[in-house]
Amino acid sequence: MSDRYAVIGNPIGHTKSPLIHGLFAQETGQDMTYVAIEGPLEPENAFVDTVREFIAAGGKGMNVTAPFKLQAFAMSDERSERATLAGAINAMKFEDGRIIAENFDGVGLVRDIEENLHQPMAGKRVLILGAGGAVRGALLPFIAARPGEIVVANRDVEKAEGLVDQVMARDLLRACGYHALGSMGQFDLVVNATSASLTGQLPPVPSSVFSPTGGAYELAYGKGLTPFLRLARDAGVRTVADGVGMLIEQAAEAFAWWRGVRPQTRAVIDRLTVPLT
Ligand code: NDP
Repeated sequence: MSDRYAVIGNPIGHTKSPLIHGLFAQETGQDMTYVAIEGPLEPENAFVDTVREFIAAGGKGMNVTAPFKLQAFAMSDERSERATLAGAINAMKFEDGRIIAENFDGVGLVRDIEENLHQPMAGKRVLILGAGGAVRGALLPFIAARPGEIVVANRDVEKAEGLVDQVMARDLLRACGYHALGSMGQFDLVVNATSASLTGQLPPVPSSVFSPTGGAYELAYGKGLTPFLRLARDAGVRTVADGVGMLIEQAAEAFAWWRGVRPQTRAVIDRLTVPLT
């Protein structure tokens, strides 16, 4: 029987993960299946029971998406450092009766920025907008890329400050509100990790933060030119991208972790990219 994998979320109809992992399996010749499971929202233990049933039926691993990332974190037996900082996971491996948990969102994001978009972060000024789950998962991989400075701006400043305080890199990291950004000059990379674009909104970021020779990255994907990316483009930024590359790179990390072989991502990114027009 083929090795079994799945993604669990609710709703799950929109997921691209079965397609992505199916293409990876084809390319690397792995004998596996990967399906989407709509996880139950209630009763309280129903999510945990669904995961346990999948394990009992021989499941080898799972991706986890909203709204289950915290519950999956709580039920896991072992967690990586970046998953612990995030307090949330997006991938699980089932081995010898144990649930090992990882969060590949941040590494996927950094890989897309540095490898695919050719924007190395070492020594650069990086601005991250937002302080939600995606940023929690991204901070350690961002720090590992050795930027010169990381500013985390959020509407709820205390949330950003709380996050920065948890990370032992205070010389590198600082938190602020949007009002402070007007006097901070240009950043080499501006990352919109808010969920504003999901409702067609723009976080209150001044256009003075963009550098024409730098980059602007939108974590949301499949939405074309969002208000954030339009602002960046109007400010003359040449390298603008959405989060489809992050989605595929985090999937590749999980695939390599499960199967021990790293798939190629370029063709899959090209296939799933919605043009930024
Ligand atoms: P969360 O709900 O955890 O956090 C949302 C963040 O957005 C908060 O910081 C919130 O600020 C901020 N926010 C929401 N609306 C606005 C607004 N109108 N103006 C300014 N700030 C706003 O979301 P996640 O961190 O999980 O996800 C963030 C984004 O990343 C989403 O678009 C999601 O789709 C995307 N994503 C993409 C992935 C990929 O693979 N490409 C993977 C994971 C996420 P406050 O705290 O002040 O309320």
